[in-house]
Amino acid sequence: MFQASERMETLPFSGIRVMMERAMRMQKEGMDIIHMEIGRPDFDTPEVIKKAAYASIEKGNVFYTSNYGTPELRKAIAEKLKRDNGIDYKPEEVLVTIGVGEGTYAAIAAFTNPGDEILVPDPVWLNYIHVPNFFGAVPVSYTLREENDFQLDVDELESLCTEKTKMLIINSPGNPTGTVQSLETLQKLADLAKRRNLIVVSDEIYEKLVYGDAKHISIASLPGMKERTITLNGFSKCYSMTGWRLGYAAAPVEFISALVRVHQYINTCAVSFVQEAGITALEKAEPDVQVMRKEYERRRDYAVAALNRIPGVSCKTPEGAFYIFVNVKSFGKTSAEIADYLLDEAHVATVPGTAFGTSGEGYIRLSYATAYERIVEAMERMEKAFAKLAAEK
Ligand code: PMP
Repeated sequence: MFQASERMETLPFSGIRVMMERAMRMQKEGMDIIHMEIGRPDFDTPEVIKKAAYASIEKGNVFYTSNYGTPELRKAIAEKLKRDNGIDYKPEEVLVTIGVGEGTYAAIAAFTNPGDEILVPDPVWLNYIHVPNFFGAVPVSYTLREENDFQLDVDELESLCTEKTKMLIINSPGNPTGTVQSLETLQKLADLAKRRNLIVVSDEIYEKLVYGDAKHISIASLPGMKERTITLNGFSKCYSMTGWRLGYAAAPVEFISALVRVHQYINTCAVSFVQEAGITALEKAEPDVQVMRKEYERRRDYAVAALNRIPGVSCKTPEGAFYIFVNVKSFGKTSAEIADYLLDEAHVATVPGTAFGTSGEGYIRLSYATAYERIVEAMERMEKAFAKLAAEK
């Protein structure tokens, strides 16, 4: 009876959710589904953080806070950004958000006009396509190519710039490829951003989940970049706090003053006691983060080796996050067909690469945020399923 606004045409349901819901239905029917589609940690939130939240509620910390977040958390975040990322932000340069999801929305809402172009990776977490569309801005995709180890190609980015290009989105370590952009790439990118006077939005939500010799570098730490960068980060992935909805944006005050105006009309402020627990996460939970990181690395090493042993299947070794972007082109089917087939035949849920953009065709995304033993089982099932598929060809 009531028609949603025309703007809503730009907001489809997420392809990851579609897969997840189908897998859940099959599970309810009694099938033993292995979930490798979900982008959320399988660990509980560290005890020290949960205790800080209980204590905060007990103390009566249950009211609105400043729109910007509590002074104590903003200070702890500024200190963290100095300590871990080598960027000198003052507490006034921090806005506490309801996750990076909100930070993304606020940055795009506050800094793009209809028709402005935003350079966005492909494949990508699709908020970076749909949120610009919602505001009439134009996402212009740059491709992350497997043959380039999914490093972004700064020359390609340069060739996509027009006088309408206003913003550049980067995500390292990245979803869905797990790629950590190198210092060399980031330096070239920084030069481009300065030359073209672009705002850089840097989504660093997976920063602590890096493996082997890989090192996370914040682009705002490079010379002349802090003044044009909005650094987005949050607690969901590294601290296993997806349901707590806590994140932050760090940027010069002119940016923060605009972002807070979007934020105040959506959320007023982040949850009071969650903010207090966030301070404990930053100050006391590093050992817990390292335990999780090591376990992810063990799973990654196993899964990458197992996948590359399956005839017709190949993947690069991702250096970060908890995803593997697996090349399944040799089977001559679409990503969606392969993901559907694996769910039906092997009862392993994955996400078709095309849920992250057109250049994801020929790939599926596997998340290894699931128990090691389940990954072992999934690899055995997938090996059989792929062998059957190859035999049918
Ligand atoms: N950025 C990226 C790249 C993500 O993959 C996700 C979650 N899938 C988010 C942001 C969302 O973060 P949050 O829970 O802090 O909103």
